[in-house]
Amino acid sequence: MSKYWSEAVNGLTPYVPGEQPKDTGITKLNTNENPYPPSPAAEAAIRDFPLDRLRLYSDPDCAELKQALADHFSLEKKNVFVGNGSDEVLALTFMAFFRQEHPLLLPETTYSFYDVYCNLYDIEYKQIPLCDDFSIDLNDYAEPNAGIIFANPNAPTGRALALSEIEALLQRNTESLVVVDEAYVDFGATSAVELINRYDNVLVIQTFSKSRSLAGMRVGYAVGHEDLIAGLERVKNSFNSYPLDMLAIASSVAAIKDDAYFRETTQKIIDTREWTEKALAELGFVTVPSKTNFLFTSHRYVEAAELMGFLRANKVLVRHFSKPGIDNHLRITIGTPEEMQLLVDTLKRHPDIISMG
Ligand SMILES: *Cc1c(COP(=O)(O)O)cnc(C)c1O
Repeated sequence: MSKYWSEAVNGLTPYVPGEQPKDTGITKLNTNENPYPPSPAAEAAIRDFPLDRLRLYSDPDCAELKQALADHFSLEKKNVFVGNGSDEVLALTFMAFFRQEHPLLLPETTYSFYDVYCNLYDIEYKQIPLCDDFSIDLNDYAEPNAGIIFANPNAPTGRALALSEIEALLQRNTESLVVVDEAYVDFGATSAVELINRYDNVLVIQTFSKSRSLAGMRVGYAVGHEDLIAGLERVKNSFNSYPLDMLAIASSVAAIKDDAYFRETTQKIIDTREWTEKALAELGFVTVPSKTNFLFTSHRYVEAAELMGFLRANKVLVRHFSKPGIDNHLRITIGTPEEMQLLVDTLKRHPDIISMG
């Protein structure tokens, strides 16, 4: 606290990101990064970038990236918004759309940045409990609202909704915006992007951080009806004209065009996820069905906090949330097959798992 802080700063509860350890000997399965490098085309775009150009400002419209994304999704450039990571796109979305008289509706268990933004912008919100199996029932989102936001697949549970469920929500909820955060959609769920041309009340947000292996570049985007995109542009241009630097633009353009590499690496992660789920089941874990690059899992006898500490002591980082209802689960990022073998081998050495035989 400081007497120089604005009053509102005292009341903030910032998001706490997963740890980024300095020690390189650690197996990092805690922040859902991709274990594979970015597309070789993205690497080449950075390596070959004419560095003298960095003295100029980057394109405030990010036209080349917007056009590449529009081509990728068979949309038009006016349907695409880009930002400095999807976290920034989300922050601008909350500011642009959710400050209304009714509360924002969101799942009780979901990406924990959403309530942080509500707190930042003074947005009233209502958390809707998940079902017992950690699924979202969109029929529960049926009251007057400032908007509805959820992640699909959801985080940290990994469960996905069917496109038909989302479409039915768009048909019922016509007076406010529905935002679908698809950070993990490329690992086996169905995207709502195909609804963009038929519904003006849906905004889909995606990121280069997970399925495109570019978390360090900080590139995210939203697609939706042109009037929604225009609203985001107004807020963005009232905040930061140049949120993407030239290297971020060049590398993400190259990455979105390299479909073969994208399909190869996402499929490898899906295969490794299935292997890991089976291996964990043999050790006594019960895992929520996942369409993401992580598993949300709980051991039948050993507490999640204990296992997280044990793994950490053995240089394997996984994520544990101390929030009631999910505090006996671990969220484990899918790494390479070798990393997952190491995870399983380490868990096998836990005294309580050994004694189960
Ligand atoms: C990782 C993640 C994000 C943030 O992604 P960035 O583009 O790296 O900012 C947004 N939403 C969810 C649900 C995520 O898991």
